[in-house]
Amino acid sequence: MAMTLRRIVVILLAAAAALTAQNRRSVFVITDAEGVAGVCRQEQTEPTNTEMQRLLTGEVNAAVRGFLAAGAEEVVVWDGHDGSRTLSALTLHPRARLIHGSLGPTMLMERGFAALAFVGQHARANRAGAVMAHSYSSLGIQRLLMNGKEVGEIETRAALAGWFGVPVILLTGDQAAAEDLKAIVPNAELAVVKESFGYYACMSMSAEAAQQTIEKAAARAWSRLGEIKPYKVEGPVTIEVEYTTRSTLFPLAALPPGVERVDARTLRYRGKDFLEAWTRWQTR
Ligand SMILES: [Zn+2]
Repeated sequence: MAMTLRRIVVILLAAAAALTAQNRRSVFVITDAEGVAGVCRQEQTEPTNTEMQRLLTGEVNAAVRGFLAAGAEEVVVWDGHDGSRTLSALTLHPRARLIHGSLGPTMLMERGFAALAFVGQHARANRAGAVMAHSYSSLGIQRLLMNGKEVGEIETRAALAGWFGVPVILLTGDQAAAEDLKAIVPNAELAVVKESFGYYACMSMSAEAAQQTIEKAAARAWSRLGEIKPYKVEGPVTIEVEYTTRSTLFPLAALPPGVERVDARTLRYRGKDFLEAWTRWQTR
């Protein structure tokens, strides 16, 4: 009975997404801090770090200008870094909207956005030559695997958007993050604003140059919207979360359906498709 209801909900979400997708000319922007030009040290990623806030806001507003100039009607910006405490409506582009807070498993994708974009994005955990690369939580998660392959926010959020038929059209970040997106969405627009040499070592563009680069890339991305395909992960999906030693799991007597223990620090979530496996992790 529960499964039947879940299926109905999933079908309804898909139908709603399909209905609204053609009607909306709206971009959903996910922000982060570790991929911003000029951000290369851990303390800069504190949500209250004013230098990082200014650098990130500059890049976000540059992307908004680019999207709007190319014909997007709405840009919705989600403050995606560390507890949604970095961006402010005071300094946001006047024609953008800002979302604070966690969004649940679907990240509002059922609203039928035309496209998804990453601003300030870093690469996945365990990636060589990448600035502050991690997958969701550098303190909590050692590695994240989707169908046995190491992934991070880029791959999983692209897959989530892809489930709803939404393509990722733009990523701004270091060259490692850009390569990660290119591997799954070969023709997405990439604005590489810094080159990473190691976890805390990079060569960055100036804020001014990064913003100009991002504005142009966002405009190109919107104008090429029809050419860029959603990233769809077909068939049954497993998501394996290897926690860090400090986050070692309490040995539970029983795990919910679709969840299995791999070892003391690792859980595997199974689903008939990406959304089911993803929802099982996100709602555990
Ligand atoms: Zn992140």
